[in-house]
Amino acid sequence: MNIQSLLRENIKNLKPYSTARDEFKGTADVYLDANENPFPSAYNRYPDPLQKKVKQRISELKGIEAGKIFLGNGSDEPIDLIIRAFCEPGKDSILITEPTYGMYAVCAGINNVSVKRATLDQNFDLDLEAVKQALDGSVKVVFLCSPNNPSGNLLSKEKIIELIARINSIVVVDEAYIDFADDEGFLPVLEKYPNLIVLQTFSKAWGLAGLRLGMAFASEEIISVLNKIKYPYNINILTQQVALEKLSTVEEKNKQVDTILHQRSVLTKQLQSLLMVQRVYPTDANFVLVKMKDARHIYDQLIERSIIVRDRSTVVLCADCLRITVGTPEENLKLIETLQTL
Ligand SMILES: *Cc1c(COP(=O)(O)O)cnc(C)c1O
Repeated sequence: MNIQSLLRENIKNLKPYSTARDEFKGTADVYLDANENPFPSAYNRYPDPLQKKVKQRISELKGIEAGKIFLGNGSDEPIDLIIRAFCEPGKDSILITEPTYGMYAVCAGINNVSVKRATLDQNFDLDLEAVKQALDGSVKVVFLCSPNNPSGNLLSKEKIIELIARINSIVVVDEAYIDFADDEGFLPVLEKYPNLIVLQTFSKAWGLAGLRLGMAFASEEIISVLNKIKYPYNINILTQQVALEKLSTVEEKNKQVDTILHQRSVLTKQLQSLLMVQRVYPTDANFVLVKMKDARHIYDQLIERSIIVRDRSTVVLCADCLRITVGTPEENLKLIETLQTL
């Protein structure tokens, strides 16, 4: 597997911007190298461009070396950077497996990169035959989402591995919801596959959607390319500080995840008992996809009663489906009681 040969020519040859903190990495008494305002405040200095402290904590937590970690402004940043690093605009393409998270196709569109589409099977699992049909020589990156948004299920690990092992492209496995799944995901096999990139985020289980911090895990070779093309100071001081604080309270996150998982099973049972509900799909995430009689009407009725869910009924394989995030016990109860009156 030759990662360099998959890269865009201009990215391969790019000499990155070198920050003041890249050129002097030690500590000193007097910093007169970055044109900062010298009068101390919490924010008068530029942040660490490589977020070493945060990565060190993530490294300890996940058992992945710091050099194999990239941090971005949400997962959206690595999604965009991966497309920009590997796909020549107007020539190369990405492949997505639908229904899936919308950002992959949007980022590709922004970059004038075309999108090949393979539909998942009836259980929302990977259909390797459909993927094979959709693949051609222009596909540089395949985006898989597991647990999948909007269906909620994990994709089959065996099928993903078969694809990663067989394909001469980058495979991104987006694990935004992995903390809610009874599965360790793909970090344990990161070493084995040089073309694998795993995405995770602080936006879901960690409760930090407003902070904007996403993680990418891959070989040092791939991570160094992402570092080369990111904005030099892409993660600000506040975000780095709050992330470090949060990373020392893992138990709190785990407790909230446990509560959400319990609520998920309560909510699933209650939804299944409603006449309007045709099917609650199995989920490994913090939301459930629900097939209903006349989903659009129910969606509108819920809005009128000040409850907002996500209408996915126009999405492939999701006719008459609403995607419902697991809320607090009170919120879930309010949803069920409201649905009972419709
Ligand atoms: C929510 C979500 C993300 C998170 O995106 P951020 O930019 O990190 O907030 C990533 N991927 C999927 C599939 C998601 O549903």
